[in-house]
Amino acid sequence: MLNAIAGRLYVVATPIGNLGDMSPRAREILQSVALIAAEDTRHTGVLLKAFDIQTSMISLHEHNEIGRLPELIARLLAGASVALVSDAGTPAISDPGYELVRAAAAAGVEVIAIPGPCAAVAALSISALPSAQFCFEGFLPARKSARRTQLEKLSIEIRTLVFYESPHRIAEMLADCVVVLGGERLAVVARELTKIHETLYRGSLADLAARSTLAPHFSRGEIVVMIAGAVVEELSDTRELDRVLSVLLLELPLKQAAHLAAKITGARNNEAYNRALHLKALLA
Ligand code: SAM
Repeated sequence: MLNAIAGRLYVVATPIGNLGDMSPRAREILQSVALIAAEDTRHTGVLLKAFDIQTSMISLHEHNEIGRLPELIARLLAGASVALVSDAGTPAISDPGYELVRAAAAAGVEVIAIPGPCAAVAALSISALPSAQFCFEGFLPARKSARRTQLEKLSIEIRTLVFYESPHRIAEMLADCVVVLGGERLAVVARELTKIHETLYRGSLADLAARSTLAPHFSRGEIVVMIAGAVVEELSDTRELDRVLSVLLLELPLKQAAHLAAKITGARNNEAYNRALHLKALLA
């Protein structure tokens, strides 16, 4: 039930590198609200200055979002409208904002999207990978073992996978993708979208992993990684591999079970080993 006197919460997308992508509606809303809740007030201050917007700001980042909720919800319920922005792109998408949106909705405050740039959607739209259905994963875990476990879970996903990745981890991430998903899948790395050095790298995962260690600019700037989903035939191979492994793992040590399962099913040794690790974790 919406509260009739409450202000509105506007979730406002801002440019991901090119000020020309700021929409007239985003400007109008940021100008007219009582308060802007910004991930980093200094960062958003630069944006507001560029558009001559003088609205006051409050910080709302991952470490204070929960603590800020009572104050912001009280102001909204008292009739003040608030705009939520992050440093770049769409708030609440791998950015702070989810808790505020959830609390506002629960309090009966109307929540309005002011759509605009989002790196994941921009990258996918030019990827030439299947885009009718996709699986947005945000950032993979920074720790190698957790990252590989997450990739294992995603190895049977048939939709295009979309990740954010930091430049200093991209080479390591692509190398892990090759180990867990195999080197053949098509992938696209989109860097510095909407900026001067915007570049798109297309190729197989093995190709991109190799280029990430060789091309000097590959691992600089902001990056979206997209990987084609698993093909159904591969999946049926995986199912057969899993079936054989689940029997062998009951009787044999992991390495031996993986080696034998690869021989029986024709799977690659490292694929059988990774599946064995995955199954062992599930069976434990
Ligand atoms: N909420 C934002 C959005 O809607 O895109 C994403 C915020 S997330 C903290 C930042 C990550 O988005 C970066 O590390 C990078 O992976 C991706 N990103 C942001 N801007 C980008 C750009 N111009 N080109 C490529 N990737 C970008």
